[in-house]
Amino acid sequence: MPSEPLVADHVLEFPGGYTRTTGPVIGRFLTELRDGRIVGVRTAAGRVLVPPLEYDPDSGDAVTGEYVEVGPAGTVTAWTWVETPLEQHPLDRPFAWALIRLDGADTALVHAVDAGNAKALEAGTRVRPVWSTNRRGHITDISYFAPEVTKIVSPVKAAYKITASRSLTHFLEGVKRGVFVGCRCANCHKVYVPYRLSCPECGIAITDEVELPDTGTITTFAINNLPDPRAPEVPFVSAYILLDGADVPMIALVGGVPAHQVRQGMRVRAEWVPEAERTLSMSNIRWFTPTGEPDAEL
Ligand SMILES: [Zn+2]
Repeated sequence: MPSEPLVADHVLEFPGGYTRTTGPVIGRFLTELRDGRIVGVRTAAGRVLVPPLEYDPDSGDAVTGEYVEVGPAGTVTAWTWVETPLEQHPLDRPFAWALIRLDGADTALVHAVDAGNAKALEAGTRVRPVWSTNRRGHITDISYFAPEVTKIVSPVKAAYKITASRSLTHFLEGVKRGVFVGCRCANCHKVYVPYRLSCPECGIAITDEVELPDTGTITTFAINNLPDPRAPEVPFVSAYILLDGADVPMIALVGGVPAHQVRQGMRVRAEWVPEAERTLSMSNIRWFTPTGEPDAEL
């Protein structure tokens, strides 16, 4: 008959700890750590071993006894991410075990790197030690290594006032009445909206004013996933809308339709805020919303 495997929990422990002597080379390394320095030892071949060893692993020859201060910064050469730290790990949050080649060393040291998340780390990441406040001559005198500061986030906010030009004021006065005021060039006959005083193509003054309907066609659009104070929510759609009778499109929000249904050629109409709430601004137009007409040819 099937039976459950027998399982017993064991703990291997040397009460009071296991004491060993360090020898002169490791002892020097640990003594320097206690004093906040990291040293390596030079081999007869001229390489600097960190952590130091009594014998050159390449040749088996005794090292020279010349100690060289290295780091404290270094470069991660390889690493593995620990998502769930164990009780005896140096950090209680996800971290990396990394091979770190300290500046001036020819070999790499294994230590913990507190990088925040695995994506913040790669071979070549520059790191610096974070020292323990209670150093006693042990590898844990370095609490962990942390990536060097390579970027900062500076808040950017500029508040400024724009004084509307005469032509823009005229256009906004129209918007307050619920009308799009444009103009027609007497030379090229192009109709511009918003209203302007000269033709950008012909360079001549425009005197012919036209009122345009509040319907048009989406010529191009963007789905925006970053919040914007002018938009009610994300994602929102901003679009170039060619008002009927105009020759240049105007930029505006599109609403009242799921973002993924917005398309080029879609027919739209301005949705105006109630007359009592209108000001001299584009916010009089809540957004453009689909009319339901068949799409226009562009
Ligand atoms: Zn013109």
